[in-house]
Amino acid sequence: MRTFDQNYIDGAFIPVTGDELVDIVDPATEQVLGHARLASREDARRAVEAAMRAQPAFGHTSVDERIAMLGRLQAAMLAHADALLEATITEYGGPVARAQWVASYASQCFGDAARALSSYAFERPVGGSIVVMEPVGVSALFAPWNSTAGTMASKLAAAIAAGCAAVIKPSELSPWQAHVVARAIHAAALPPGVVNIVTGRGADVGAEIGTHPGVAKLSFTGSTPTGKLIARAAVDTMKRVSLALTGKSASLLLDDADLETALPLALGAAFMNSGQACVAGTRLLVPRARMPEVAERLRSAVAALRVGDPRDPAIAIGPMVNRAQYERVQHFIRRGVDQGATLIAGGEGRPDGLDCGWFVRPTVFVDVRNDMDIAREEIFGPVLSVLPVDSEDEAIAVANDSPYGLQAYVFSTDAARARHVASRLQAGTVLINRVAPDLLAPFGGVKQSGVGREFGVAGMEAFLETKTLTSD
Ligand code: NAD
Repeated sequence: MRTFDQNYIDGAFIPVTGDELVDIVDPATEQVLGHARLASREDARRAVEAAMRAQPAFGHTSVDERIAMLGRLQAAMLAHADALLEATITEYGGPVARAQWVASYASQCFGDAARALSSYAFERPVGGSIVVMEPVGVSALFAPWNSTAGTMASKLAAAIAAGCAAVIKPSELSPWQAHVVARAIHAAALPPGVVNIVTGRGADVGAEIGTHPGVAKLSFTGSTPTGKLIARAAVDTMKRVSLALTGKSASLLLDDADLETALPLALGAAFMNSGQACVAGTRLLVPRARMPEVAERLRSAVAALRVGDPRDPAIAIGPMVNRAQYERVQHFIRRGVDQGATLIAGGEGRPDGLDCGWFVRPTVFVDVRNDMDIAREEIFGPVLSVLPVDSEDEAIAVANDSPYGLQAYVFSTDAARARHVASRLQAGTVLINRVAPDLLAPFGGVKQSGVGREFGVAGMEAFLETKTLTSD
């Protein structure tokens, strides 16, 4: 049995003072693997105070010193890649290929931040003045359970590059993954207090950090309802806020698309990370004339997908993270049927042969209308809604008819046409004929998918404040 009962504060692992114990359950077997003691508000305050003590000196470190720190973080995270892989598979149920990608990304993003930092102009002439970019101050970094290590590492990389001491609040569902990241950060030997990690619930520990007057900046990744709570609470002390939120991304299959190459990509976009991905392309917009062929191809592609033990490299889809997420997916599959969509693959219940574990059946609905719940709400599981459209204009209108705008996908054999369609889509990122992100380019949402951008230079600038120096 594993026990996680320490915070990482002021450069040391110290006992959690909270009294709530939660089980760590393997979502593939439902076996209890251990326990975590969740942090308290007092722990949260200690973490913020440690960051506040570290901030003045850290904010004045040189670019070279911070590049060296980022290099140590990159190496330390790489050295913990196997431990991170194990934690991501066992605690979260991430399929091995995805978990490997997360482990390598968690290391790589420190290298990417060092690269952005090395060529950044912190001082520049504007008009008759000098504009100086300064660290915003102590920053709180909130991570969701579906990408614990990746979110912790990418936000921290940007904060460190900018010169901001950090308090990280991972999800209460990810104490094991958070602990491995904390061990890696400790191994990088940064000055005490520059990074602090407290794993607790959002309603107390998250709220304590998010409203603490010593915190200048909140960088939050999670759901839109929680993001709204955080943004409202931040206003009292006018904290700077970046929000990376919910998605309901559209994939547009144009009428000239090559189905042989486009459909596997579109299905991959829908079911990536077992469907538990903010950028999942879960609304597939298809020219009506091509629907029969698309439906047939999707049916056989989904039949070939293997669901099961996330350690098996042949597995495409692992379990949902817990019972609540399993029930959520079942609810939406029932809603799809009740509201009149047509099931062509999957459906309610577990896949054949999997009697325990939070496994769901990869599911595809056709004849979906954009006013159905399965087209409007983020399900966060492997459920694809296929919507027929009669023209390119209608495809764009349907794609944009959503409160969200995180990412979109366009599939076409005509590059100029795809670019033109992309220019009309309301989304922070549009991927054309690919599903792999560009991790150096700005990433974030429009509308209710968020505020601000992460990654690369834009990510670092989110932790900087602009000062103007004007003299005679
Ligand atoms: P969530 O909103 O429930 O929680 C996210 C984090 O916020 C957790 O650490 C949680 O404990 C904390 N939190 C909750 N209430 C808080 C409060 N009042 N103050 C401070 N912190 C609080 O989200 P989740 O269920 O963990 O994650 C899934 C959601 O995250 C999905 O909607 C998904 O789309 C979104 N997401 C978005 C991105 C993106 O980049 N846009 C990336 C990954 C996940």
